[in-house]
Amino acid sequence: MYKINVFQESSSDSLSFNVFEFGTGNGPTVYIQSSLHGAELQGTAVIHELIKRLKSISVYGQIRLVPACNPRSINELCGPFTQGRFSPVTGDNWNRIFWDLANPSSLQNGGLDLKSFVANHFHDSFESIRFEFKKQIGLTLRNRLSSAYGTSESKILAFTLQGLAADADYVLDLHTGSCATRYLYVPIHCRESARAFFMPCNLLVPLEFGNAFDEATFMPWVHLQAQFREAGREVPLQFESYTVELGSEEIIDLDEACFDAERILNWLGSKGVISYKTSKTFPVSMACHLKDYKSYYAPVGGLLDFCVKPGDVLKEGQVMGNILRIDQIGTDSAILPILAEEAGILVSHASSSNCHKGSEIFLVMENPEPL
Ligand SMILES: [Zn+2]
Repeated sequence: MYKINVFQESSSDSLSFNVFEFGTGNGPTVYIQSSLHGAELQGTAVIHELIKRLKSISVYGQIRLVPACNPRSINELCGPFTQGRFSPVTGDNWNRIFWDLANPSSLQNGGLDLKSFVANHFHDSFESIRFEFKKQIGLTLRNRLSSAYGTSESKILAFTLQGLAADADYVLDLHTGSCATRYLYVPIHCRESARAFFMPCNLLVPLEFGNAFDEATFMPWVHLQAQFREAGREVPLQFESYTVELGSEEIIDLDEACFDAERILNWLGSKGVISYKTSKTFPVSMACHLKDYKSYYAPVGGLLDFCVKPGDVLKEGQVMGNILRIDQIGTDSAILPILAEEAGILVSHASSSNCHKGSEIFLVMENPEPL
């Protein structure tokens, strides 16, 4: 059984998108969105594939999907390219606009009163606490959206998307890298669960807030656990959210979208949201801690010839690329090789060969280990 509800959010003229819902069961609730960064297109192709597949799969809980969740960013072209990463109005990175709404410091801005919540529900069952906490998250966001002082354009989007995920147990935010392999940001408590995605690369991230969407959805539950602990009761951290990086920006691949959807369906099956288990085989999943995820920045400006591709295993000292220095052109010192400082796996490189001094050119997982 399945159903689809399509409705339009109409918080502002620039915020109008479709939301698809499957399932009405009592199982877990899942929220999946794509293309928050407008140039990162593959997730929307993957949601298309998921919607097609879910029509013939049993759903025990609820699955809410939002393709192209930031219409403004996907429409923001600059020449032939999608600008998409930053608000043209405020300069905000669209994935750094979100609100840590249960942080005690947010209370003065209309945040969730966690101390009162824990005092009022201290003796409740954990199931009841979860139910009430989700309601409080939704209410807090609705109240902020209807502030008598108005709400800025970026925050309208932030609070609307957080509101759509307010009742979720699981959240997936679908992005891409610049020119990248498939990889996953895995909150450290989700390491075991993440194996069901069969992602080739996995970054293990601490439970900290940096204004991103995945963090904004898991942090209320981190704060809830901490507040209960302070009050003398242990409750589990039973919430998972991931940023899922599906290849390179500015391009979709419908064949790859079938594999991407297969990974997500297998993970949904492992969480008991749907009845599904993949029969496909995937390459081994490798992981590193965020501290070992290294950016290389161009030491000089110039034009970069990439000698490695995303997913490649790197040896220490290997040439990853050569920068052609425009100021030295035609001389023996025009070529500057960029060497791997340590062995690792290339996750991503810049999408353009045109690099400035200080441009981020390579992203490498060092000290990789099986997930
Ligand atoms: Zn992104």
